[in-house]
Amino acid sequence: MRILLAEDDPQLGDGLMVGLRQEGYAVDWVKDGATADLALKTEAYDLLVLDLGLPRQTGMEVLAALRARGQTLPVLILTARDATSDKVQGLDAGADDYLVKPVDLYELAARVRALARRAAGRAQPVLEVGDLALDPAARQVRLAGAPIELSARELALLQLLMENAGRVMTRAQLEASLYGWRDEPDSNALEVHIHNLRKKLGAERIKTLRGIGYTMPK
Ligand code: CA
Repeated sequence: MRILLAEDDPQLGDGLMVGLRQEGYAVDWVKDGATADLALKTEAYDLLVLDLGLPRQTGMEVLAALRARGQTLPVLILTARDATSDKVQGLDAGADDYLVKPVDLYELAARVRALARRAAGRAQPVLEVGDLALDPAARQVRLAGAPIELSARELALLQLLMENAGRVMTRAQLEASLYGWRDEPDSNALEVHIHNLRKKLGAERIKTLRGIGYTMPK
C-alpha cells in the first residue's frame, strides 16, 4: 500500500514516515501543499495523510481540489489540538478521519488500517484466502493455523495479493504499492519476494502470468 504524507514539520514528518514504513507501507513525503497537489495528480496513492497547516497551499485546498477531481482515496487529516472547527471543516470537505497532534504512532497505524479496510470494502480485520489468514494489526500470518514468519516487504506483498485474490496484479501495480520514491526497487526484487513467499506458503499460492504479473487463486 502506498501512502502520500503531506506534513511541513520536519521532525513530525520524519517520525510519521519512519513509523508508517515500519508498518510496511511505501511512503512518499511532501512538505507543502502545492507539491502534494502535484503528487496526487501524477502518482497513484492508496491513502493521504494530510496536515491542514501547510505552506504554498493549505491542506484544505489540497483536499478540496482532490475531491473536485473525483479522486476517492481515503484522507486522514492532522489537526492541531482543540481545533474543532478544523475537524468539522475537514470532514465536511471530504476527509475520512482525523488525528489530533501530537500524533500517537500506534493510533495512526490503527486508523490507517481501518481506512484501508473500508476502502477495500472489508469490515473484517483479518484477511482470509482458503486456509491462509493475515492479521494486518498483529502483522501475523497463519497457514492452516500455524504461524509463518515473513519480512515486512513479504507481508505487504502478501496482503496486496490477498486483498486482490482472484484478480491479476501487474508488476507495475505491485511495485507502485511496495516502493516509494526514495527506495527504488532492484530489477529482480519483486521476483525475490515472490520466490520467498512461495517457499514459505507453497508454490501453488501465487501464479505467474508471464509478461503480465501475478495472481493469487481464491
Ligand atoms: Ca503544519
